[in-house]
Parts: sequence; structure tokens; C-alpha cells
Amino acid sequence: MESRKQFRAIKGTRDILPAESALWDWFEQTAREVLASYNFREIRLPIFEETELFARSIGSDTDVVGKEMYTFDDRDESSISLRPEATASVCRAYIEHGMHLLPGNQKLYYVGPMFRRERPQKGRYRQFYQIGAEVLGPSDAPAIDAEILEMLLVLFGHEGLMNTTLYVNSVGCQQCRPEYVERLREELRTVKDKLGPDSQRRIETNPLRVLDSKLPEEQALIEKLPRLVDHLCAACRQHFSELKDELRLREICFEESWRLVRGLDYYTRTTFEVTATGLGSQNAICGGGRYDGLVELLGGRAGVKGIGFAIGTDRAILSIQEGGHPPALPGLSVFIARMGTRAYPIAVNIAKKLRASGLVVELPPEETNLRKALGLADKLGARYGLIIGEDEAASGTFTLKRLADADQKRLSESELLEFLESERRGLGA
Ligand code: AMP
Repeated sequence: MESRKQFRAIKGTRDILPAESALWDWFEQTAREVLASYNFREIRLPIFEETELFARSIGSDTDVVGKEMYTFDDRDESSISLRPEATASVCRAYIEHGMHLLPGNQKLYYVGPMFRRERPQKGRYRQFYQIGAEVLGPSDAPAIDAEILEMLLVLFGHEGLMNTTLYVNSVGCQQCRPEYVERLREELRTVKDKLGPDSQRRIETNPLRVLDSKLPEEQALIEKLPRLVDHLCAACRQHFSELKDELRLREICFEESWRLVRGLDYYTRTTFEVTATGLGSQNAICGGGRYDGLVELLGGRAGVKGIGFAIGTDRAILSIQEGGHPPALPGLSVFIARMGTRAYPIAVNIAKKLRASGLVVELPPEETNLRKALGLADKLGARYGLIIGEDEAASGTFTLKRLADADQKRLSESELLEFLESERRGLGA
């Protein structure tokens, strides 16, 4: 006999099954509501773009562009890549649609999958999901940075993610960073032979990334390196100091972290990260920062400023599952058990009415005996069994049985609808 291949999801990708997807829906819906309350509006973006868009914005020396993108040639031979992140796409869309002509700053958010060919492990996947927000426009006031950090923490509070830590830093601008990077490079050259191969390579390609190193043997050396926060120009220093005042005004707890440089080239001034508990080494659930020159770099107007963040939904949900406070989500409210031919049209009809009133209703496609029907209702976690037998059909009534304690009552249709409606409002059934 021909052997049949068993297909499996590709390494680093996974299925989110119904047992979890309700939590995902709730997480994303909660995020949408909080983002909307800060006047952010959704932008829906393509999942692939020209490869060059990512190379130019994220930087070709970064791991993301250098090693991790899923890139392929389209038939017309242009190179396209699955998006590894969405900030570049938001900026591309901002430029393409002339959004600088719209009044004020544009506050945009997106929700969806990203693709990076990383080594899969807990909290790290090749297809993962982000909820991100960006503010693009003429102003770079520190109040913008502070507002999005406030929004993030409000959001994590609503999501039941209590044990989070916010780290902030400033990575300077085109005026002050190049000089610091040179200084750092020189300093690193003097200790080169004490560094691992990755850091040695980065001395020439991207010395800031050495600060990201997690190698235990490099930590003491790194602590002695010159710090960018001590070499900011006056304007960047003032921006950072005003940001910290703004955060205090908003009663936001934060820690300064001078090594938080982030992996992508386009950041200027403010960078930040939020970590959560229960995640092991992949404990960052959100990262972001300011990218004031990016729109111009991508061919847009000079002077457009930008700042944004991306929440890693996979990790945030893992953290909620492993010690946060997952909400009680509504499940199956009513399972209909019907017996006899007369009961069937009544069951179809009442199912429609109950669903229209917002209840989750299961009407089994085949008739079984009452014991079996209620057994299945119980296994499915239904709150109520709605019994329609010969008796009920003849008298135009319904028997409603609460499955938790077997309490049951006989009701007319209007009593039934009224009772279940008040239950739904009271219990979120
Ligand atoms: P980044 O776009 O690298 O700034 O990442 C922002 C957030 O996305 C991180 O803090 C993570 O929570 C999440 N993230 C990034 N890469 C992955 C991945 N491969 N798997 C799961 N989550 C990721």
C-alpha cells in the first residue's frame, strides 16, 4: 500500500487552536479598544513588500535583513520579502498616500503576522504576531513618546499583565551618535580578543549591537564601555530629560537602561522595551522607539518624525497563561436536546431566536436520547440544556436545565427568552 505522508506545520509556525484562540481574540480586541481610546486608527497592510524597503529601513547589517527574511523572486524578477516587521510598511503607506497632507500627527495601528527565520524556541517563532502602533507627523514632542508608553502600560493592565517592567533609553541622533559609535568602536578594538566571534564581527559592522550581547563572559567588559547617554548632544539630552519628566507626570514606573540600543538601524533618541515574567530568556513582550529620519530615508518628506512600538502577541499571551490573570471568557450557553419529529422545527426556530439575542447555542444535527444529549452538553461545557420532548412540543413550552446543579424549570417561549437574556446580561454567558 502506498504510504501516506502526514503533513505537519512548518518548523517555527503553529496552529492556534480554539482552546487558545478565544484568549487571542480577547487580547486583540482589548488592544483595539485601548488604542482607539487614544485615537489610534487601524491600517491594514500587505504581508509582503519589496525586499529593498526592509533593507533600506531596517539596515542590511542587521540580523533581521541579513539572515532572517523570507525572500523570493517574483515572476517579474523583482525581489520580495515576507514582512519581518511593519514599521517600514507603515512609513511606505504614509508616503504613498500623501498622509503628511492630513491634519496633525497620524496615529496608526496594525495587527497581524510577521515572519523571521529565527531559531525556534519557547516564545520565538518564524511566524509570530504583533500589535503595533506608530505616530507619524511634524511633531517629535516628548509628550508623544510618553503618551504611547502610558497607553502601553494601560493596555498591559487591561490584559492582566501585571509583572511588567518598562526600560527606556536614548540612542541619540545623527548629530551625536556617529561620534559615539566611533569612540565605542575604538574602545572595542582594544578589547577585541576578549570578545566572542559575533561581537568581534560587530565591532566593524555594527558596534552598538555589541551592547545587546547576552554572553556572560562579555558582561564585565561591556559595563566598562563608554555610554551613549553620556555623549548625547544638547537637543537629545533635553528630549530625554523631558520624556522622563513626562513619564513621572503620568506616574509611569520605568527603569533607564543605557544598553537598550535595539536591533534595527532606524532608531533615534527614545528606545524602549517592556519585559514580562514567565517567559524565560525571550522575555521582551514589546519593543519600540523613535525613528525621526525614516520617512525621509524612504523617499518621503524631510522633517516627518515618527515613533512606534510592536507588542509580541505570542509572548504576551504566554505570559498571561503562565501567571497573569486570564479572563473568564464566554463559552457555550445553551445546548438543545430535542426528541421526536414535532420537536425539530421548534428547536430550529428557538435556536435562531436565542442566537439572535446574543447567546452561543449548539443545536446537534442528529437526534439522540436525552441522557446522551445532556452528557454531550456537559462535556462541551454548556451552561444550560434546553429540552424539547413530545410533552414540551405538545404544550408549547421548554424545559431549561442548569447543568451545574441540575436545577430545572418549565418555561413558555417568552419566559425562556426573558430569563436567558437577563442571565446573559448578568453573567456574560
Ligand atoms: P522587534 O520588532 O524585534 O522590536 O520585536 C518586537 C516584539 O515582537 C518583541 O519584543 C517580541 O515580543 C516580539 N517578537 C520579535 N521576534 C519574535 C519571534 N521570532 N517570535 C515571537 N515574538 C517575537
